[in-house]
Amino acid sequence: MIKIRQLSKVFHNKTVLDQINLDIREGEVVSIIGPSGAGKSTLLRCLNLLEVPSSGEISVNAKQVEYKTNSRGRLTFLSQMKLTWLRSEVSMVFQQFNLWPNKTVLQNVIEGPCTVKKVPRQEAEAKAKKLLAKVGLLEKIHEYPANLSGGQQQRVAIARALAMEPKVILFDEPTSALDPELVHEVLDIMVKLAGEGMTMVVVTHEMNFARNVSDRVLFMEDGKITKSGKPEEVFCTTNPRMNQFLRNINH
Ligand code: ADP
Ligand code: MG
Repeated sequence: MIKIRQLSKVFHNKTVLDQINLDIREGEVVSIIGPSGAGKSTLLRCLNLLEVPSSGEISVNAKQVEYKTNSRGRLTFLSQMKLTWLRSEVSMVFQQFNLWPNKTVLQNVIEGPCTVKKVPRQEAEAKAKKLLAKVGLLEKIHEYPANLSGGQQQRVAIARALAMEPKVILFDEPTSALDPELVHEVLDIMVKLAGEGMTMVVVTHEMNFARNVSDRVLFMEDGKITKSGKPEEVFCTTNPRMNQFLRNINH
């Protein structure tokens, strides 16, 4: 589903992603763990060109993602058109939800399908209602994000991601901004999606999710994937930095 070759990203002469190679299969749930500053968010953001890679290749669903840039490092117009395709194949859920504050829950969910995919409004609304029912928020469709809890906002963000009918959903620490008692309501939905066969790449500090739900865990440090394998392999490691990381995260 996703193929990454020699992907690098340099910010102000600092190499943040260092020649990453990674394949993600259809239906796979991959958790990415690792210390702050390791490049986890940058890797996800490169996958849907929220950041433009400095070099390397990305394919999604066997189609190469083009990211030609101009001299200022901005995407060129040609790539901009492909961006529409890419952003509907690869949806993203952010730590801070990133809902549109001036749109209702329903408007947030139909915005992408209506404007990007030109789905007729009625059809988009019917689909949105199904998705909002799935995340348990049908009664909130006319609310504004500010009137929802963090857990509810993140569930709307997941419904919004699903509304694009993506091939892959990227989650960047989706529960890190939530009060502890609300974490489970978001994780429950992610577990459900995983069970339905959704391809998911999840940056997370929820070690129970990484251990119990993912097919594969990647440990990132200094812009590289230094450990990759089944959860039981990665968590039973003799790597001292991995063990330090796990100790730190447990308090
Ligand atoms: P993680 O998600 O693993 O905490 P990030 O991908 O956010 O790590 O960041 C990796 C490194 O890249 C950090 O050193 C960070 O300061 C730097 N970085 C991230 N985004 C930018 C940016 N837009 N401009 C400059 N440096 C950045
Ligand atoms: Mg991050």
